[in-house]
Amino acid sequence: MKQEVDIQVRPNEVNSAELIRTRISDKVTLAADDISDWHILRRSIDARGRKPVVRMRVAVYSKGEKHQAPPALLEQFQMVTDAPAVTIVGAGPTGYFAALECIERGFRPVVYDRGKDVRSRRRDLRAIQQEGKVNPHSNYCFGEGGAGTYSDGKLYTRSHKRGTIEKAMRLLVEHGAPPDILVDAHPHIGSNKLPKIVAAIRETIERFGGEVHFNTHITDLVIDEGKVVGIKTADGREIPVGALVLATGHSARDVYRMLDRQQVRLESKPFALGVRIEHPQALIDRIQYNQSPREESLPAASYKLVTQVKDRGVFSFCMCPGGLIVPASTAPGEIVVNGMSMSRRDSAYANSGTVVAVELDDLKPYADHGVFAGIALQEQVERAMFSFSDGTQRAPAQRLIDFVTGRESTDLPKSSYIPGLIPAPLHTLLPKGIYNRLRQGILDFADKMKGYYTNEAVVVGTESRTSSPIRIPRDRETYQHPDIAGLFPAGEGAGYAGGIISAAMDGQNVARAVAQFMITNGLASVHS
Ligand SMILES: Cc1cc2nc3c(=O)[nH]c(=O)nc-3n(C[C@H](O)[C@H](O)[C@H](O)COP(=O)(O)OP(=O)(O)OC[C@H]3O[C@@H](n4cnc5c(N)ncnc54)[C@H](O)[C@@H]3O)c2cc1C
Repeated sequence: MKQEVDIQVRPNEVNSAELIRTRISDKVTLAADDISDWHILRRSIDARGRKPVVRMRVAVYSKGEKHQAPPALLEQFQMVTDAPAVTIVGAGPTGYFAALECIERGFRPVVYDRGKDVRSRRRDLRAIQQEGKVNPHSNYCFGEGGAGTYSDGKLYTRSHKRGTIEKAMRLLVEHGAPPDILVDAHPHIGSNKLPKIVAAIRETIERFGGEVHFNTHITDLVIDEGKVVGIKTADGREIPVGALVLATGHSARDVYRMLDRQQVRLESKPFALGVRIEHPQALIDRIQYNQSPREESLPAASYKLVTQVKDRGVFSFCMCPGGLIVPASTAPGEIVVNGMSMSRRDSAYANSGTVVAVELDDLKPYADHGVFAGIALQEQVERAMFSFSDGTQRAPAQRLIDFVTGRESTDLPKSSYIPGLIPAPLHTLLPKGIYNRLRQGILDFADKMKGYYTNEAVVVGTESRTSSPIRIPRDRETYQHPDIAGLFPAGEGAGYAGGIISAAMDGQNVARAVAQFMITNGLASVHS
């Protein structure tokens, strides 16, 4: 017999089987010895009380019954070597999860990415970090695994589609992610583990008969009578396609320009822009856990802050406890930052994007740029930051109180940002509407988190790639572009995802729609 109970333990007790058994038996009408098995369904840290506790929902089994793990998803995969091909551009989470779904449905994914495989990509990341050199095809956003590979690997999503989230998580676990992500309320993998997982996904795609091609920059689509029939590569090849999943991420601005040139309809969409703020982790631990130093069994503390200033949301974004600020520029001449962390989250710093929602109304000054108004705003800020730098990826920065009070910082605190920081008047480099809201937002946050507002914290420019400022429209039912048959815009770059898991789920959904398209259009003799 199985029943579910909620228990709580102290953080240093989570690995004590005996203690958990006792806690369970306190909650159910069973003696501890009659509990034949238990299985944790959900786990979260609750730091609201005087001492943090770990809350768990547990499935409890009695009368000799045991928890049965579901069969591995990969066991259901079959060879697709001779199956009809589905072309996928972009080897990020959207593209790779679309590829896995294609295999499951009996189609052969053929993936193209402008960047390098996950290992070779490392050299280019080192060049950005140490020499400030940005390779426009291989950087923190482009290359195998996409922007997700050298990310933080936080796996939260605002989606409530439990079945689909679970499927994406289980596939990650089957490719080497820690099983904890299946139960943790705030699952996290870490940048040291993600590359291996990404490589394992590629090996699965290839093992079952799919293909992955790196260093293949797609520069054009071939459209014939309202249908996509091919793609062109930078090295002059033309590759015929039956169905095309376009999953190129939000930083591939050349892809939007190429679509516009081809008169493929695009739409502006709201996004967010701001800065990254870094505090000493010990300070955030003290505020959130009321402990200093935090007890060893507790993870680095995080925060989530949100407020409303003059009709616009101001919020923390992609908070990285125990993490690092990284240079996420995708072209020379710009400065863009983001955050990541290792699985242990053991750096001395806590950083978070702190951004202001940008609505379409805010883009009126950029109206001359048409659908590219949002990109024009991003570029203006990214270039302003670069012009303040020294030609490398050193990022303009200001102490937090100086930023809010509009005073230049004469020096800066230590930071995790490897290329280094340059004192700069960020308050003059950001558009007024953004700066004024950030300023008020930070003061609101200071009221919510005592100790947050300190000159020990540093504000770094700029956090401009929170989500895509452009949507590639698609039909809600068929997932195809409304004007171009066979073109399936997908993931974050198309405006349908905002993070690793939502991108993975969108890739799966799109692949299902592609399978249907292939069947309906007689392009498939093999299907699920
Ligand atoms: C540093 C950093 C940290 C992050 N941390 C987190 C986190 O902790 N949690 C989270 O959920 N999200 C995080 N994100 C965001 C997350 O990585 C993205 O939401 C996600 O990767 C989007 O997936 P995608 O597949 O849609 O696009 P992308 O991951 O951007 O992948 C697009 C791919 O398309 C390729 N491509 C682009 N143009 C072309 C072309 N013309 N031809 C061929 N290939 C092309 C690119 O090389 C790239 O590999 C982070 C992002 C960054 C940069």
